[in-house]
Amino acid sequence: MNDFLLTPIEFLKGVGAQRAELLRQEIGVFTFNDLLHYFPFRYIDRSHYHKIADLPYLDSHAQLRGTIIQVAEATVGRQKRLTAKFQDASGIIDLVWFQGIHWIKPLLKMGAEYQIFGKAKVYGNVWNMPHPELTEWKDVAQKTGLQPVYSTTEKLTAKNLHSKGIEKLTANLVLHLAGKIPETLPAPILQEYRFIPREKALYLVHLPKSEQDYIQARTRLKFEELFFLQMELLLRKQITLSKSKGFLFPEVGDLFNSFYSDHLPFTLTGAQKRVLKEIRKDFLTGHHMNRLLQGDVGSGKTLVALLTMLIGIGNNYQAALMAPTEILAKQHYVTLKELVAELPVQVELLTGSVKKKDRIGIHEGLENGTIHILVGTHALLEDVVQFSNLGIVVIDEQHRFGVAQRARMWKKNSIPPHILIMTATPIPRTLAMTFYGDLDVSVIDELPPGRKEISTVHRYESHRLRVFGFLKEEIAKGRQIYIVYPLIHESESLDFNNLMSGYEAISRSFPLPEFKVSIVHGQMKPADKEFEMQRFVKGETQIMVATTVIEVGVNVPNASVMVIESSERFGLSQLHQLRGRVGRGSEQSFCILMTGDKLSKETLKRIETMVSSNDGFEIAEVDLQLRGPGDLMGTQQSGLLNLKIADLAKDQQLVIIARDEARKILEEDPRLERPANLRLREILVHILKSRPDWGKIA
Ligand code: ADP
Ligand code: MG
Repeated sequence: MNDFLLTPIEFLKGVGAQRAELLRQEIGVFTFNDLLHYFPFRYIDRSHYHKIADLPYLDSHAQLRGTIIQVAEATVGRQKRLTAKFQDASGIIDLVWFQGIHWIKPLLKMGAEYQIFGKAKVYGNVWNMPHPELTEWKDVAQKTGLQPVYSTTEKLTAKNLHSKGIEKLTANLVLHLAGKIPETLPAPILQEYRFIPREKALYLVHLPKSEQDYIQARTRLKFEELFFLQMELLLRKQITLSKSKGFLFPEVGDLFNSFYSDHLPFTLTGAQKRVLKEIRKDFLTGHHMNRLLQGDVGSGKTLVALLTMLIGIGNNYQAALMAPTEILAKQHYVTLKELVAELPVQVELLTGSVKKKDRIGIHEGLENGTIHILVGTHALLEDVVQFSNLGIVVIDEQHRFGVAQRARMWKKNSIPPHILIMTATPIPRTLAMTFYGDLDVSVIDELPPGRKEISTVHRYESHRLRVFGFLKEEIAKGRQIYIVYPLIHESESLDFNNLMSGYEAISRSFPLPEFKVSIVHGQMKPADKEFEMQRFVKGETQIMVATTVIEVGVNVPNASVMVIESSERFGLSQLHQLRGRVGRGSEQSFCILMTGDKLSKETLKRIETMVSSNDGFEIAEVDLQLRGPGDLMGTQQSGLLNLKIADLAKDQQLVIIARDEARKILEEDPRLERPANLRLREILVHILKSRPDWGKIA
């Protein structure tokens, strides 16, 4: 960066030592460059004057030009009030002040022309404008154009660095930019997307004359920010990859082939096939695979996992499948065993509740290589669990495993096993690109054929009797039902009480002997949970009352109704996960979202989204718009969100373009050695050095 941009901020006209200290402390502005990148968050249109006769009201800003025709002071109750009648060609409005009357009053000259700016309000059918900005027309400097609005702080405001004060500084600074702002984006990109030059963008973002000016400026600056972010992510990935050694699986192997031709229970969907091809490619590179597999509930990830593991086994390696709960691990174990029943593949299950003497056998089998697939929970991560030759690890539902746990799995071998992470919580593509920059992402975006859409409805608490009536009808048809209660950490005891009183109410409304009710929640012993689960699985009970422990993996095809209590308290992706527990059999399934009678607009939008869509990716997209990337990814603190101008939710098209362009450049010139890319290289070396520890986020 050049000397001009690095000039300390106190040397800017109008700043000085005191204000400089505040700018550094309050908003992190140390240099001219920092101030140039302190962007306005919106603009007020100064080019347009409203007519008093057709003012928009509520809180919209309005700008007027007219004359003061009368000034009056009054005391209403104990409050003093100054009123000025202000007139333009179309009508009259009251300007009102409640404070600062003694210094405002002398400014109001009868018959003089003014520019007025403020929020127009209506009180008791009378138009007025409280505390407007007021400038005599002859003194109005900026008669047209847009006024930038900057965020500021109390301390800055006290030193006259309110938005207007900051505007004065930036407006002055940008007058000196000519020839001092080097271009950072490659010329072909500037041409392709018609982005304006950097110098012009930094000028216009602070001093636009029209809406087009600031849109052009902001678009260019947003793109620049996203482009360098994507370049950085891709470079980091490239660096990690070049360092990583991984097992080579040169063959798909006989095991895979014989399973594929003789034991596959159904034809793979196109998406399953595509994903397998992507995985297969990774196995041929000699590098470590680190792949995220996104696929909606029921999209058939388990089969992909098995086929992937069979490739590993066919190449004489062992495989592990890790699940977040015992229930889920056990279910995977049963499914896999069934699928490979006729193949020479040894599958074992290891969870916290496997007995000690059985464990010893498992440990032996792992060490001497007779066990091919180990399915389990966190228990797999214990140090006593040693494999003879672990080549591939599949992790189901990754959002429950942390980075640290993943890393431990890798350490089980000198060369880390390939990792396939499966998640049924779809993440919008642009976020996946950014937050899982270190992973490759595969997507199963197609459900197996013949699925019946789950019918989802929203019912208020006041409809409970009718809902229960419906449940009884379904049970009479032989169906089973889940009723799920929220259990959220902070208020666990309260939630627990809700669950228990709900359970009692249900037991009363669905009396024995006709109806039998199971209950499963987190405070039960694993053995009791298992017992209750099994009663439901075997069809001995018709209703399963549960907390979100059943969120993942539970598979009871005869269960066709999911009732979610207090559904306004669940996030969208959680609701979608829960709903995925039904719709697994041949019967029409239902999801009933129960809520209280009063809902916020946002909650209503969430519920409506659930009712209208069954598509996990679409739902994730709405979630992103509603909650923003930080809440969605649970990484509020992450450096990835310290974006100054771009927004990962609103600027998705730019994210995609930025990613594509960055990828193209690195494909053609991975080390950025071509003359045309030297400038990029210089910038990126600087960025990589300034954020060394920021590689592992996922
Ligand atoms: P998830 O992606 O949620 O883990 P599963 O792997 O449990 O989904 O698959 C859901 C159901 O779909 C299972 O019963 C599975 O046997 C079935 N299934 C998987 N792939 C196919 C396919 N290609 N055609 C038909 N059914 C399939
Ligand atoms: Mg699954």
